[in-house]
Amino acid sequence: MGKDTRLAIVIPCYNEEGLIPSTTDRLIELMNDLIQREKISSESYIYLINDGSKDNTWEEIKEACEKHQGRIKATKFSRNFGNQKALLAGMTGAHNIGCDALVTIDADLQQDETKIEEFVAKYDEGCKVVFGVRNDRKTDDFIKKSTALAFYKFMNILGVNIIKNHSDYRLVSKEALDVLEKFNETDLFLRGFFHEIGFKTGIVNFDVKPRMVGKSKFNLLSLTALAINGITSYSIVPLKMICVVGFICMLFAFITGLIVLYAKLVYNDSPNGWATAIILTSFFGGMQLFCLGIVGEYLGQIFREVKHRPRYLIEEEIL
Ligand code: UDP
Ligand code: MG
Repeated sequence: MGKDTRLAIVIPCYNEEGLIPSTTDRLIELMNDLIQREKISSESYIYLINDGSKDNTWEEIKEACEKHQGRIKATKFSRNFGNQKALLAGMTGAHNIGCDALVTIDADLQQDETKIEEFVAKYDEGCKVVFGVRNDRKTDDFIKKSTALAFYKFMNILGVNIIKNHSDYRLVSKEALDVLEKFNETDLFLRGFFHEIGFKTGIVNFDVKPRMVGKSKFNLLSLTALAINGITSYSIVPLKMICVVGFICMLFAFITGLIVLYAKLVYNDSPNGWATAIILTSFFGGMQLFCLGIVGEYLGQIFREVKHRPRYLIEEEIL
């Protein structure tokens, strides 16, 4: 509690050149203030994960480590592994270095960093995981906004309970990190995971600011990949749905067959029905391909998991 809480601020960084000095200075200032007011311990630190940046990010990180001796720690991936892997590495790394709780936040500080104090207050109240929930999506374009909404709706329909508009801005306590260590899925879907573990959770609402430097590292493709991973790693409802759809199609085909047979036997007008035949073949062809695709997604998920490859590779560390 309070001045005994060793807090780690975990930041994934990919091509964030130009942002590292201002972000680290700002967070050190914020941490100093919290330390002074005895909200967190003076042992608290910032932990940066360089996710295979191709620009000067790592040099800027090293400079920041020099400037704020011992208060900034960093890890460098050997290549880009994606934001979720960087977050995982950050959480595992901070857990190994030692912390009572950590807060993950983006390098562009789009999420209101002053709310870290509220996250810590919730932790002091006994919450083991605190979710940051965005107040609105003003800074997102129409496509990002509507696909995100559709995703959360779909996940809820599938029976996966994730809070709408919650982001990777969250506090995770040491206890939750202990549990995280036991889950060694390669493609762990963090937004689903922290709901599954069942610890006492809390919510902090925050506003999203526009990005100051650079541009968003996500596009529709990477967001779709994240969404599909979320679905296939937390729900097998699509697999079950295939059976139901397949059964209905079979029934439909059976009835159509009976009608066609009846027409043939009673009226003997067989050349008709070209259209029907083509529509039906293409309908079922399409349906089968669609179902195969869903099975394929799961197969891919299993494929990635059975290989049990390391989630990420670390090239360099500053601890
Ligand atoms: N990020 C990362 N690896 C990637 C893509 C992004 O570590 O492959 C980091 C990025 O540096 C930032 C955070 O993930 O700290 C969120 O990225 P961004 O701000 O581009 O996402 P958005 O705000 O558009 O959701
Ligand atoms: Mg951002």
